[in-house]
Order: sequence, then C-alpha cells, then structure tokens
Amino acid sequence: MAKRDYYEVLGVAKNAAAEEIKKAYRKKAIEYHPDKNPGNKEAEEKFKEAAEAYDVLSDEQKRRRYDQFGHAGVGGPAGGGFSGDFDIEDIFSRFGDVFGGHFGFGGFGGFGGDSRGGGRRMNRGSDLRVKVKLNLFEVAKGVEKKIKVKKYIPCSTCHGSGAEGSGGTKTCDTCRGSGVVTRVINTMLGQMQTQSPCPTCGGEGKIITKKCPACAGEGIVKDDEVITLQIPAGVAEGMQLSMNGKGNAARRGGINGDLLVLVEEEPHPELLRDENDLLYSLLLSVPQAALGDNVEVPTIDGKVKVKIEPGTQPGKVLRLRNKGLPSVNGYGTGDLLINISVYIPETLSESEKSILNGLENSPNFQPKKSMKDKIFSKFRNMFD
Ligand SMILES: [Zn+2]
Ligand SMILES: [Zn+2]
Repeated sequence: MAKRDYYEVLGVAKNAAAEEIKKAYRKKAIEYHPDKNPGNKEAEEKFKEAAEAYDVLSDEQKRRRYDQFGHAGVGGPAGGGFSGDFDIEDIFSRFGDVFGGHFGFGGFGGFGGDSRGGGRRMNRGSDLRVKVKLNLFEVAKGVEKKIKVKKYIPCSTCHGSGAEGSGGTKTCDTCRGSGVVTRVINTMLGQMQTQSPCPTCGGEGKIITKKCPACAGEGIVKDDEVITLQIPAGVAEGMQLSMNGKGNAARRGGINGDLLVLVEEEPHPELLRDENDLLYSLLLSVPQAALGDNVEVPTIDGKVKVKIEPGTQPGKVLRLRNKGLPSVNGYGTGDLLINISVYIPETLSESEKSILNGLENSPNFQPKKSMKDKIFSKFRNMFD
C-alpha cells in the first residue's frame, strides 16, 4: 500500500510549526487510541500511521530529509524495505510525553496506563550506522543489497529478559513495579507531586535475581546478522536512509534502535552526475563537427547512437530526454546532457597544412558575425 503524505496524515500544512504538528498528532492519537477503539484494526493502523508521521515531522532533521526526498529519505518508498514498522509499545514509549504531564487523559486510562506499565522506562537500543557503496547503474535502477552487520540481538537463552528461567526476576519493592517513584513536596504554592525513575530498578519495574548465564543478565548478545536493504532508485551521495527497528536490540527487552544507511556513490568513468541529470563530454574531430556524423554515447542503459548535425559548434549541448536518473521521490527522470567540444589538431603534416592553407580564405571558413555575438553573450553571462 502506498504511504500517504505525512502532512496529509496529520492534516497540517507543509509549513506547519512544531507546536501545530504536536497538537495535530495529539488529536489523531486520541481519536484512534486503542483503548478507545478496542479490536478496531483500522483505528490501530491509523494510530500507527499518525505516530509514524509524527516521528518524522517532529524531528527537525528527519522532517528536512522528508521534505527533500520524500518517504525514501526517512523510511523508504511504499512497499520498500524501509517501512517504519512501529508497534503500539514503541509508540507509547516514544511519544508518551505528548500526552503525559500537562495533558489530562480523563476517561480512558491514559497513555501507558497501568496495563502498559505506567511510567516504566523502556530501554532503547542504540542506532547502527552502515555505509553502502553504489555505482551509477545501481543508483539509476535501485538495488537490493545484503550486508552483514555485527549488532546486538536479543539473547536466545533468556529471550531477551536477562533472567535465568521464569523465576529469575521479581517485582521491584521500591516502586512496586511501576518504575517510578512519586514524591510529594511542599512548596509555597502548596503540595506538588514529582515523579522520577525508580532508583532501585532504574525504571524497569523489576529486578533480576538470577542472571541469565549466556548474556550475563543483559538480555542481548553480539552477533552477525545479514540485513537486506532495498535501496530506492535516485538516491545520492550523503543521503541517509533509516530502517526503523533494525539497529541494536535494547538491553532486557526494550525497543530496537534504528539502522542508518549512509549512501556513497562510486564515480562513473564517463558520466558525471548533476542532481538527476547526467553529463557527458563529447569531443568531435573537425571533420565530424563540420560534416556531421553518427556517434556513440554511453548511457545508463548502454551505448546509444547520436546524430551530429553538419556544422555543429563547440559548446553546443545535446539533451537526451529521460536518459538521466529517476528522482528519488518518484517524480520524473533527469536528462543526459551531451556537451560538445571540437578537437583542433595539434600537429599537422605538410599535405594537411597545404589543404588548410587553401581553405583559409574560403568564405565558408570565415567566422560569422552572428556566431561571434552568440559566443560573446555566452561569455558575458558567465560573469553575471
Ligand atoms: Zn540471556
Ligand atoms: Zn523500582
């Protein structure tokens, strides 16, 4: 299913301020909250969709990448491998603060109510960064790359809990499993409640009494994983793609970090890239430029024949439409621009010299005034 535009999902304008985006998300999240819509799959999808949109639009960097590259810049194209697969738990732990504190939830238990563990802190795995090197053909067509990464994965012995067996943990006595401690303090304005992570269990709500021997109680182990990356067509050097949840696993069963894929481009021996256009420099001989010819030019899809008209001037640019690179947003394709130069012989034999001498005063060999003006105006534009 094609992903909807994030601004559309939240119902805000492209230039919406951060506070507006937060408000819009809060509204959607309340509307589609799972507690309010039990068993309603469609509401759940909408709830996730809004969270994904908010995840991107609330982060200045991600938002800029999204504005520039669309879904590919932050999570990949529709159906690609970089989908932002949030689960409900992720959403509560990431965006709970949007609803907590100053926002009363009244009727339906609130976000992360007791059933979800109150203020219990969820560990988050660290992000993993990898580089992927692509040649121009791969950039043009998009490519699937398998890469091996060393990363933290959940320990298979304890299934990520960090405890040995089912009796290896107990509920934290200090916070009685809530993960937070509440203090009442007296201020000039009266009594105030403050909440902070439980110091005994570090906010996890439980304590490990018997550590899993395979991971020493961490719940994660380092291992190799082969990850398949779906690189969309049209990516560029320096672009960063993110795969949500494909980074390091968190200690003792939290949320995975993200995998960040930095794109590196291998230079092509003949074609230069200018955004979505490709540039090729074609050097003609004097007879080719004067008499015309059919020449071969390299493109992404192999060589093509290009007709050179008789009397072609150096500096002329031929444009092969749609022979450039596709836009990463899926809107249109660039062109291949062929910049023509003409090679003037550097050494001449006696007979060649005599041929050229014979042409020196031939009227067709005299530079035309219109051509001089054209070259001069081009030259002047360079300095404007
Ligand atoms: Zn373990
Ligand atoms: Zn505790």
